[in-house]
Amino acid sequence: MELNRDTNKFDIPLAKRIYLNNPNSTLLKKLLIFSPFLFLIFSFFALQFIRNIDLKTFSNLKFQIERNHDHRILGHLPYKEISKEKLVLIEPNIEVHIDMRDSLLKMREEARKDGIYLVFLSGYRSINLQNDIFYSLKSIRNQEAAERARVSAPPGYSEHSTGFAIDIGDATQRETDFETNFENTQAFRWLIKNAAKFHFKLSFNKDNQYIDYEPWHWRYEGSIEALKVFESSNRKL
Ligand SMILES: [Zn+2]
Repeated sequence: MELNRDTNKFDIPLAKRIYLNNPNSTLLKKLLIFSPFLFLIFSFFALQFIRNIDLKTFSNLKFQIERNHDHRILGHLPYKEISKEKLVLIEPNIEVHIDMRDSLLKMREEARKDGIYLVFLSGYRSINLQNDIFYSLKSIRNQEAAERARVSAPPGYSEHSTGFAIDIGDATQRETDFETNFENTQAFRWLIKNAAKFHFKLSFNKDNQYIDYEPWHWRYEGSIEALKVFESSNRKL
C-alpha cells in the first residue's frame, strides 16, 4: 500500500506539478470557482444600468410629449371661457366663478379682521375683452407679442376667462395696483401667509421663465372643477 502511494506520488509528471503550484493557476482556480457569482453580480449591475437608461429615455420622451401637447403659447396655457350661468357678480364690475365666491369673500373678511384691506381689481374677463387688452395695449406700447405675453395673456389663454382668477390690490396703497411693488404691501404679506387657507394660489411666481411675476394675480383651486382647469399648469415641466 505504502509503496503504491509512493509510486503514485512520483507518477505525477513534473510539468503538471509545476503547473499546479503556479500562483497564476491558483488565481485561475479561484476565478473559476467564483465565476458564477461574478457573472451574477455583473448581470445585476448591467441590468440596473440598462433599466436606468430605459427609464431616462422613457421619462424624456414623456416630458417631450407633455411639452408638445399642452398647447402653451408664449408660456400661457389655453383656457376655455366659463359658461355664463356659473358667473356671479360680487361687486360692480367684478364677476367670478360661483365656486370661488364664498371663499373669496371670506378671505377679504378675515383679512379685514386683521386690519388688512383687500381690494378686488379684476375677476372674470371674456375672451373678447382679453383680445382688446392684449392687442390694443400691445400696439400702444409698441411691443412684440412675446414681450406683451410676459405681462398679459393672449386671448383664449388667460386664467381670467375661467372665472377662477382674481387680481387683488391693497385698498390703502392703490398706487401699487398691478405693480410688482404690490409685493411690499401689507395686503400681499397677509396673502402669502393666509391665501392657501382659502384655496388661493399665486399663479405667476418669480420662477416662471416666460411670464413676469404678478404678485396681484391669484387663482382659486378649491373645487374639483378648478383643479381640473389648472391641472396642466400644476404639472411640473
Ligand atoms: Zn390677473
